Amino acid sequence: MIENKTSSTIIEIENAVVSYREDVALRGISLRVKSGEFVGIVGPNGAGKTTLLTLVNGLGKLVQGQVHVLGCRLTSGNGHILRKKVGYVAQMMSIDPRMPMSVHDVVMIGRYGRLGLFKGPGKHDHKIVDEVLELVGMTHLAHRPIGHLSGGEQQRVAIARCLAQEPQLFLLDEPTASLDWKAKMDILELVKLIHKSQKLTTLFVTHDLSALPAACSRLILMKDGLIWNDGSAAELLTDDYLSKLYDMPVPVVRRHRQEVVPV
Ligand code: ATP
Repeated sequence: MIENKTSSTIIEIENAVVSYREDVALRGISLRVKSGEFVGIVGPNGAGKTTLLTLVNGLGKLVQGQVHVLGCRLTSGNGHILRKKVGYVAQMMSIDPRMPMSVHDVVMIGRYGRLGLFKGPGKHDHKIVDEVLELVGMTHLAHRPIGHLSGGEQQRVAIARCLAQEPQLFLLDEPTASLDWKAKMDILELVKLIHKSQKLTTLFVTHDLSALPAACSRLILMKDGLIWNDGSAAELLTDDYLSKLYDMPVPVVRRHRQEVVPV
């Protein structure tokens, strides 16, 4: 059922419990995210970060509580309503070099949810694909087979595919995992640019504090299936908070505003 929520509140979660058979992954979390926010979700392995994104994506199995995303109250059967509206970028996956799809073809997949039944992509869809390829700096590789790209380039394509959807919500789950330092910094810069230029509400999950984009102004710290803390990045990125979150000393080096690298 579609219900009206406060227009600036894009995500509203109340007391959500999610479990995978006997494993309880989220143990009663509540959260509100407003339009245009850039929220980093940080915490140790198994904290429930991915499960939280899955819930927002309309794929989570809610045992208890309520979830509203983009004005839609999610139930067990209506998550597909969000499919066109929510863009999701996951960790890099290995792609078979023989995969017979070009970069352009892969980005076009992002348009499929918007094509009519039995319709192929039209001029407008090709224009959008060209635009997002330019935005992520991949125009020159548009006709290269997807399996011939480096990890960093593949993640740019994944981001382009997601933007081709014209999403209202942008979810990223460890998008820089297994990238080298330079590729990681390039992706973080790109995510920051996208947020700045498109004002897209963004949730960015990571357990690697050096992979937190500088644009991330709000942080949600998760631990043991709960939101352990929620506040400004400036307030929470301290030795004290992070050491308690990870149950070990986590000294941080503040290089410039909001960029923090564990040492
Ligand atoms: P990581 O940083 O390691 O990716 P996370 O914070 O994203 O961890 P989740 O992946 O959400 O954590 O997992 C939360 C808990 O739920 C963990 O205990 C995990 O083992 C469990 N879990 C996650 N997915 C499943 C699944 N498909 N089936 C069973 N248990 C699962």
